[in-house]
Amino acid sequence: MQECLLCKCQIPDEDSLCSCGFNFLSNEVEGQIQINEKLHWVKKLEIEKRLFELYKNHQSMTWIAREKLGKSKATLSLDMNLISSFQKYPKLANFRTKAEAQRFLRQWEFSAQKPSEIKEYFSKELELRDFLAKNWVNTDLGREWRLIAEEFDTKEVGRIDLLTQNRETDQWMIVELKLTKASDQVIGQVLRYMGWIKANKSSKQEVVGIIICNEIDQDLSYALPMTKNVNLYTYNYDGSTISLIKFDRQNYNVKKVTRLYEQMTEEDKLKFIERWRNILSVKRS
Ligand SMILES: [Zn+2]
Repeated sequence: MQECLLCKCQIPDEDSLCSCGFNFLSNEVEGQIQINEKLHWVKKLEIEKRLFELYKNHQSMTWIAREKLGKSKATLSLDMNLISSFQKYPKLANFRTKAEAQRFLRQWEFSAQKPSEIKEYFSKELELRDFLAKNWVNTDLGREWRLIAEEFDTKEVGRIDLLTQNRETDQWMIVELKLTKASDQVIGQVLRYMGWIKANKSSKQEVVGIIICNEIDQDLSYALPMTKNVNLYTYNYDGSTISLIKFDRQNYNVKKVTRLYEQMTEEDKLKFIERWRNILSVKRS
């Protein structure tokens, strides 16, 4: 018996052609490769990977692979991307379908988005502000807080990015946006606006403030838990939708989070990253 180089089937020594199409004599695949449809998607990708390797020194390797697999260029490049990601994210193999794994991979790659990538979407802070204002009602915050004004001019202490009021209690909330990284200076700015609203909008209730940014500065991670009515959200943007992640004020220390992360298994790290990526990115940069 001999083992097929591509599908790993055992075939008798006297046969020169495997049912998958691999020819032992020419070391080539005859026509299109026949892959058992019932195989697990990971196994199918492994065959695909071996096919790439078989033709890797060939000049028109990609074209041959497309022919042999009967796949479009786009599908093939998605497959290759997935194959090359297995080593980095072994958890991918646990997904039930290839589509799920690809979705997860996109999400992961997206959550590791760098500020420079965010700048491709929003070149200026006002673009982020406009986008968020237009889509405000679709965010979790927007369901609770009514948008009153965009770029509200206090004419005294500066302009408030977004001014909102609680839909039920009419409590005021000011929103300060930072396109990329926010430092602890933003706290002073937010407190100044909150104080101005409290003094000028005759509010009996406490005024609250939030900071929405893409990355957190280490200084801010120390200063924020010491404030009372200021919260922080980080945003993700994938080119069409924006998602906001609220940070836990009490467990909000760069060193602590980084230490926790370093002790985790690769699998746990993946789960952890979505929540803490902004803090972890402080360490990375
Ligand atoms: Zn075979």
